[in-house]
Amino acid sequence: MNCPYCDSPRGYVRIQQVKRLRIYAWDGTFLEDQDEKVFYEGKALRCYNCDEKVTSFVKGLKQPL
Ligand SMILES: [Zn+2]
Repeated sequence: MNCPYCDSPRGYVRIQQVKRLRIYAWDGTFLEDQDEKVFYEGKALRCYNCDEKVTSFVKGLKQPL
């Protein structure tokens, strides 16, 4: 299996991006009894060699085992 853009067989990297909410009181103190809340999680797959987005390409490869 090779990259559809650069024909590299080296595979892809997964970039995970998470945004968290931290809650503060009005005086600026962090309310530590509150858990940080994840409100956004993005995942992108990019070719290890040419850095092109291959997310949909990889999804198309997935087949039932
Ligand atoms: Zn590539």
